[in-house]
Amino acid sequence: MVTDVTSVDTSPRALPRFEFLAGRLSLDFCNSLSQATGGDRLAEPAALAGWAARLGRPLERMPTEAETAGMRSLRGHLLQIFDAVSEGVAPPQTALNALAASGGLGAIELHWDEAAGRAAVRASGGALAGLRHDIVADAVALLTGTALARIKRCPNHDCRWFFFDTSRNGRRRWCAMADCGTRDKVRRFRDRHGAGASPAF
Ligand SMILES: [Zn+2]
Repeated sequence: MVTDVTSVDTSPRALPRFEFLAGRLSLDFCNSLSQATGGDRLAEPAALAGWAARLGRPLERMPTEAETAGMRSLRGHLLQIFDAVSEGVAPPQTALNALAASGGLGAIELHWDEAAGRAAVRASGGALAGLRHDIVADAVALLTGTALARIKRCPNHDCRWFFFDTSRNGRRRWCAMADCGTRDKVRRFRDRHGAGASPAF
C-alpha cells in the first residue's frame, strides 16, 4: 500500500511496476509487449532469456533469433485472441487456427514426479519448448473453459495489462491496486479537490 502520494510516479514510462500479475501464464506472456508504449520484453534473444528467468523458468541456453521470433509470433496470435475475448467478442478464426498450428502442444514427455506424487508433463526439446508448451496449454485451457469473462484488461490507458480476475465477485478492475488503482484514486481526488491536493491513504 502506498502511504505517501508524493512517491507515486505517474509517468507512463514507469508502468507497469508488476511484471507478472496476470495470474495466468498465457496472459503474463501477452503482457511482455506493452500495448501502451510498444515496449517489447521479447525484442531479442537476451531479452527473452531475461523474461523467462524473471518468470522463474530460466532457459538452459540463449535462444536463437528464429526461436525468439517464433515466440513473438505466438504472442501476436494470443494478443489478437485475448484482445477480442476481453472485449466480449469472438476471436478471429485465423488466430485460433494459428494457435492450434503453433506446435506448442507438440511432443510431450510424461514423467513421474516423486516429490509431488503425480505425473508431470514435460515438453520434448528443452526449457524454451517447455515454456512454449505451457503457454499454449494455458491459453487453450482458458479459451475452452467457462471463465472467459474473467479475462480482463487494466483500463488505465498507460497500462492495458491483461489479467485473470480471481476475485470472488469478479469485479477486479485494475492490474494492481497498488499501481494503476492508486493512480486512478489520486487522479479522481485531484479532479475533485484541485491539482495539488493529495488524498490521505
Ligand atoms: Zn494497470
